[in-house]
Amino acid sequence: MGRAKTQKTRAKGAVNGRRMVYRLKLHKGAIVTALWLLYLCCIAAPKAFGDDAEAARIRARVKALPMTEKVRLTNDQWRRILTPAQFFVLREAGTEPPFKNEYWNNHEKGIYVCAACGNELFGSNTKFESDTGWPSFYQPLAQDKILVLADNTGGMRREEVRCARCGSHLGHVFNDGPAPTHLRYCLNSVSLKLKTTKEH
Ligand code: FE
Repeated sequence: MGRAKTQKTRAKGAVNGRRMVYRLKLHKGAIVTALWLLYLCCIAAPKAFGDDAEAARIRARVKALPMTEKVRLTNDQWRRILTPAQFFVLREAGTEPPFKNEYWNNHEKGIYVCAACGNELFGSNTKFESDTGWPSFYQPLAQDKILVLADNTGGMRREEVRCARCGSHLGHVFNDGPAPTHLRYCLNSVSLKLKTTKEH
């Protein structure tokens, strides 16, 4: 009788032990979920909204500047308002892939503005088929819209084209374009935004 009672007590103890482990696991799961929710509500979400608000403030500041004034932002501020692809080309003088960009084969009429600051740069009436896979123009809307600088990077001697208002990289200019200028402004689509019009 005594032995049977002991076995019964042990079995009961084992069941209680399993229940305890199960409860502990439940507690652990609840704690992890609670911590995750806390992180989302108190850290991640406010940071994302804060970043958006800061980006909106910077964009509004740039938009409010007269077109005759230069745009000067820090790299951190540019990073907030540009996409990673735009930042790489506009602010780090990168190059996008040929034929896999927005405007190389675009024939809409309009004004191409700087994607970083909105400065009006090139008209579609000077865009031509260069077969390079990048949008190409034979002249800017006005010479003071752009800056042309010597570029000796990558073991090549080229002339870099930048936006005169914000200093962003647009592309390069070469001496093999069509008449009347015989220049080829070879630009990155990601550096530009087309504002469609009936003219140009
Ligand atoms: Fe610009």
